[in-house]
Amino acid sequence: MPVYLDHQATTPVDPRVLDAMRPWWAGECGNASATHHEHGRRAALAVERAREQVAELTGCEPRGVCFTSGATEANNLVLKGLFDEAGDTRAGLIVSAAEHRAVLDPAKRLGRRVARLTILPVDGYGRVSPGGLTDAMSAGNDRVQLVSILAANNEVGTLNPIRELAELCHRSETLFHTDATQWIGRLPFDLRRLGCDYASLSAHKFGGPQGIGALLVSESARSHPLKPLLEGGGQEGRLRAGTTPVALVVGLGAACEIASGELAAEALRVSQLRDRLWHGMYSALPDIVRNGDPGQSLPNNLNISVPGIDGDVLLNALTEVSVSSGAACSSTNRDPSHVLLAMGVPAPLARASLRFGLGRTTTPADIEFAIEYVVRRIGELRG
Ligand code: PMP
Repeated sequence: MPVYLDHQATTPVDPRVLDAMRPWWAGECGNASATHHEHGRRAALAVERAREQVAELTGCEPRGVCFTSGATEANNLVLKGLFDEAGDTRAGLIVSAAEHRAVLDPAKRLGRRVARLTILPVDGYGRVSPGGLTDAMSAGNDRVQLVSILAANNEVGTLNPIRELAELCHRSETLFHTDATQWIGRLPFDLRRLGCDYASLSAHKFGGPQGIGALLVSESARSHPLKPLLEGGGQEGRLRAGTTPVALVVGLGAACEIASGELAAEALRVSQLRDRLWHGMYSALPDIVRNGDPGQSLPNNLNISVPGIDGDVLLNALTEVSVSSGAACSSTNRDPSHVLLAMGVPAPLARASLRFGLGRTTTPADIEFAIEYVVRRIGELRG
């Protein structure tokens, strides 16, 4: 098997997470809403324990944790839920140009209905400036209902100044959402301390299973009505109908508990491996360009552009390391990354980008192999 260096796209399920989930696929059977019998009550208890584990990792109240199928759904729920047909479509919506498609696409769809959709520019690192947000909020006469800015960029790893952005929003009674999919589980996150009203997370980015995530809702934001995307059985406090997938929820809870204990040491370990990867490649290929902020960034992300080589050719040549160019979710789309373009990276360089995502299973030997292999393949392509 090739060396797996695409942990921004997804991560292997941690064996301890699998152990926690296994009984709920083999043995235990209960609908967490059927609490009139013992089977249902056991399932409900397992779900509530997981809710507490998520709350513990994220600084949210347990009752503010709404389980969803992932971060895409959580993002759609908050954006569409706040601007539903009964909501205030006369108000404005602000997002950044470097958002994941799971924010940008619903925002653009809503843009036809809301009073004003502003897509904020980002700087050369992919970061939103508080000054830029202030200007956007004061432009025009409409009240801004929601600002949604991602916490950590999934392509280049750049961190946004979430606390400052949230504070600016609160001064004008605007709600603040952050897509924290790449941040939560990798770096400390505290919904309360950061002052966010909503945050999205996804289990499969930090050792949990695919198909489960959550929208975190702060205590103060709970008073704002959110229209559910899915209606039916009234689960998740009527925010998200559908039988609770107990095994997946238990897996998310276990992944959160593991991250709570190990995140700091793991962030340091992978950041050292990431730095070695960069220096190893850069010393052999001094014309490669690093995209994103080497300072304030995810510990496990490295995004580079390789001048003079077509991105598709490059990616196809790297059969022994699994990496991405840009976001995996957009990999069927061969346009250059919208994030790199928004950062001002010229299109040919944006097209020749590679994203390395390190994770819990990455070893020093993997990194030494990747350096030697990538440098050799690039040399051969150029040769
Ligand atoms: N937002 C960001 C920043 C992401 O990186 C991803 C995953 N690529 C998503 C949202 C979508 O998450 P999910 O797979 O849980 O729907």
